Amino acid sequence: MTEKAAEPPVSSTALIHHAYQPPAGFEGLAPGVYKASTVVFPNVAALRARNWREKTGYTYGLHGTPTTFTLEERIATLEGGRQTLLAPSGLAAIALVNAALLRQGDEVLIPDNAYGPNKELARHELEAWGVRHRFYDPMDAGAFAALIGPHTRLAWLEAPGSVTMEFPDLVGLVRACRERGVTVALDNTWGAGLAFNPFALGAAGPAPSGVDISVHALTKYPSGGGDVLMGAVTTVDEALHLKLKFAHMRLGLGVGANDVELVLRGLPTLALRYQAHDAAARQVADFLRQRPEVTQLLHPAFPESPGHTHWARLCHGAAGLFSVVFDERFAPARVDAFVDALKLFRIGYSWGGPVSLAVPYDVPAMRSATRWPWRGTLVRFSIGLERPDDLIEDLRAALDALHG
Ligand SMILES: *Cc1c(COP(=O)(O)O)cnc(C)c1O
Repeated sequence: MTEKAAEPPVSSTALIHHAYQPPAGFEGLAPGVYKASTVVFPNVAALRARNWREKTGYTYGLHGTPTTFTLEERIATLEGGRQTLLAPSGLAAIALVNAALLRQGDEVLIPDNAYGPNKELARHELEAWGVRHRFYDPMDAGAFAALIGPHTRLAWLEAPGSVTMEFPDLVGLVRACRERGVTVALDNTWGAGLAFNPFALGAAGPAPSGVDISVHALTKYPSGGGDVLMGAVTTVDEALHLKLKFAHMRLGLGVGANDVELVLRGLPTLALRYQAHDAAARQVADFLRQRPEVTQLLHPAFPESPGHTHWARLCHGAAGLFSVVFDERFAPARVDAFVDALKLFRIGYSWGGPVSLAVPYDVPAMRSATRWPWRGTLVRFSIGLERPDDLIEDLRAALDALHG
């Protein structure tokens, strides 16, 4: 007679309702990763009394967990702000600001060299919702001030511009907005909270000299691994924060605890990595600017780059990004062949990870409010964490392919 297999020692019910509590005395240095959609209440009165707005308790995963609260606090500290909201990507953070603040009939100002999808959102969804937009020349603070009209509700700033790397007069642009009561949001992904303090741009004084909102694609340097998408919206004003927070809740922009864990893990090495990306990028950029094939280097720490003096006045560093414009005698197809010939540099979007990246861009097609002064093809480089000499050798070899 064969014996029946024994019952498992515990039932699923016993496992689900297991009495285990993490030991109270366990004080590991890494924050715990807490995951929940549901959080439970001891009774109905507690459920009714719990308030998620002031972060005094937990009500539902979408409204925050100890893990998301920890990252929010750390990003607010990093950026010199007071409150932070997390969104599922940098672009979702930009969209949250627009959705929370803009209404039919309002106008938003966006730099002509802004992160492309920010402009696309304005052209499509915002336009369809009756929100108008104007793209402005970020290098002309006077013309920017003149663009501000009675319906201007929000102005975006970005420093430096995506891809073309012009560094604007942030202090002048912010001052123009403050004088006219326009809310100012900065895409601070490049600065990462390390190059400058977005909430204190000018001299210390009674009037606030910073932006109202700093948006950060944590996807880039805070993550550092090229394996997470996340965004942050940081503020100093409680009323503005609450306005954003209500929209954030109503739009359901939650983030996953495992992704938050990866960003929390990246933060302790953020400053070191940023410095390493910066130093390596300057070394590689310096090699390229001396090559006869290159007509223009676009890296705000170099004097020939537009807005260098604004960068020099404000910043304590630069990120690992720069672009070069090739001489116009090299047709776009030749520049593509150069990028294809690179071995260490990979071809792909985004930046902030360990792997160096290169992408050619057709800049005139990206502009509508400003004139692009160069005629050759631009390639944007994101310098990773490889040995800079190895990257330079890779570029040297690929430049042969440029000549064909
Ligand atoms: C990458 C990037 C974003 C968007 O971040 P995602 O997480 O990729 O959506 C926004 N702004 C700038 C300047 C960026 O470089």
